[in-house]
Amino acid sequence: MDQNTRVRFAPSPTGPLHIGGLRTALFNYLFAKKNGGTFILRIEDTDQTRFVSGAEDYIIESLDWCGLTPDEGPRQGGGFGPYRQSERKEQYQRYAMQLLESGHAYYAFDTPEELDKMRKAYEDRGETFVYDSRVRESMKNSLTMPGPEVEEKITSGTPYVIRFRFEPDQEILMQDMVRGEVVVSSSTLDDKILFKSDGMPTYHLANVVDDNLMAISHVIRGEEWLPSLPLHVSLYRAFGWEHLMPKFAHLPLILKPTGKGKLSKRDGEKGGFPVFPLEWNDPDSGEISPGYREEGYLPGACINMLALLGWNPGTEQELFLLDELIKEFQLEKVGKSGSRFDPEKTKWFNHQHIQLMKDVDLVPAFQSVLEDNEVHTDNSRVALLVPIIKPRINFIYEVWEESWFFFQAPDSFDQAVVKKRWKEDTPGKMEQLALALEGCESFTAEQVETLVKDVISRNEWGMGAIMNAWRLLLVGAAKGPGLFDLAAFLGRDEVVKRMRTGINEIMK
Ligand code: GLU
Repeated sequence: MDQNTRVRFAPSPTGPLHIGGLRTALFNYLFAKKNGGTFILRIEDTDQTRFVSGAEDYIIESLDWCGLTPDEGPRQGGGFGPYRQSERKEQYQRYAMQLLESGHAYYAFDTPEELDKMRKAYEDRGETFVYDSRVRESMKNSLTMPGPEVEEKITSGTPYVIRFRFEPDQEILMQDMVRGEVVVSSSTLDDKILFKSDGMPTYHLANVVDDNLMAISHVIRGEEWLPSLPLHVSLYRAFGWEHLMPKFAHLPLILKPTGKGKLSKRDGEKGGFPVFPLEWNDPDSGEISPGYREEGYLPGACINMLALLGWNPGTEQELFLLDELIKEFQLEKVGKSGSRFDPEKTKWFNHQHIQLMKDVDLVPAFQSVLEDNEVHTDNSRVALLVPIIKPRINFIYEVWEESWFFFQAPDSFDQAVVKKRWKEDTPGKMEQLALALEGCESFTAEQVETLVKDVISRNEWGMGAIMNAWRLLLVGAAKGPGLFDLAAFLGRDEVVKRMRTGINEIMK
């Protein structure tokens, strides 16, 4: 048990949680649980312009659905709260001041128009404008302006931003648990904005301050944040927190099914698969995006699929329940290269996870599909059905199409099958079989099997032809599970009745 392992999932509530984000949450959760640590949810909502109503609830519900419930968070509370950055506003200013005082940051008063003009002028020369150590000397900021003028601007309410001051020509050395050592020259970095005069920090400042105040030991997040790492590491150093700096692990991208580029919402729309855990109803556009839950996926299957996007157990094992993932998970086994998302494989995972469920636990789900189709039957009957149907479905909603004939006689007969399987002598043989079944005392699958096989061999009929014709009479088509199971479930009277009705119908 390591009380000191504290990790956070820090989404911004700007829309639904993409499955890439869910995977980040999962890896944080697994790492925390594996190490007896704490999994924290922190809502990074400092950018009010991108705030989307309902997104926080959506994130929390998604985590709950997957069983990744945080130990500390906006709902649970905890000793390091509040867990929404909008409720922590006051402290960011204090830390921005600290950086100003130590000379690691400066006020900048350049207006958006002035910056646009500069950008344009650079563009016209075929260059890119970067607010950095070369440029800042010629801009309107507290490094170029006399102290009293800076004071005056601040007291008179002139809008400003606080920028980080990178020392030029420094090698910034960083360690990443996935990528190893990463080195970046500070001369390639811009003086990022940390704080704005509206009293709001930017992501970078709030993120680093909170990771420190929440005693985060490991930052596990998507690769898209790797370019921010030099700034974050520099912030830790500027605050004098280098010895408290968390370890970083940047997770590889989840790639499109083609393997080229990052998986996007558009890919889901094009390929007809969800990229969100739950259905999302966009409050602005009214657009509804499908979710894994609503499409009939089990949370365990989603989690299993996501775990293997980027992490590799080092064995051939592919099926994992959450508890096993916790046992096996190691950050060291997260690879560097992106993982291709495979929607078909996700269906396979769902199929496998249905097989992993105990039959008795599937009874209520089966019952509910049957009820939806107006079949009301005892749990004990459904319990007989579960082991027969379970291997045949990828989704619970497929229960009906795989099992309706357990409850209803076919009202039509597949003509293609009739043509192929129904020979001149078939009705006679079927009648003979019906007669034999009528006399069958105990109608278990084994008894029926013995009897049917006996009739076939005594008459020297072909097994395949008989079974095909019999199936046609009981199911109306050339599909369905083992006939002996079906017959036992239906019972003698129903079987014989279906056979005779079927013979008459087909002969019409
Ligand atoms: N708020 C950032 C996000 O939306 C957090 C990134 C991080 O984990 O540092 O993903």
